Amino acid sequence: MSERDCLQCGESQAAIRASQSARDPIFCGAVDYFGECEWEQERHRFRDWSDKELIEGWKVQPEHVDKYRRIMNGYEIADEHRIEGWRNA
Ligand SMILES: [Zn+2]
Repeated sequence: MSERDCLQCGESQAAIRASQSARDPIFCGAVDYFGECEWEQERHRFRDWSDKELIEGWKVQPEHVDKYRRIMNGYEIADEHRIEGWRNA
């Protein structure tokens, strides 16, 4: 699966996810030289998945890709929207 970085803070999705499961989440924001918060967002934002990533990576049927542009993991994809044989892919 291809990787995405947060559009706002630049952290990778993998690093963010790991930090969340470690219960020490990376906040979306930036600090200046003195450690003062310059800006902070409520949550990270990622670019939408492309058709190619959804079809070839997530094994979503081409006619259903628009439903899944923003998914965070494969559990969000309905089995009936997957390309046949995706479990073995
Ligand atoms: Zn972020």
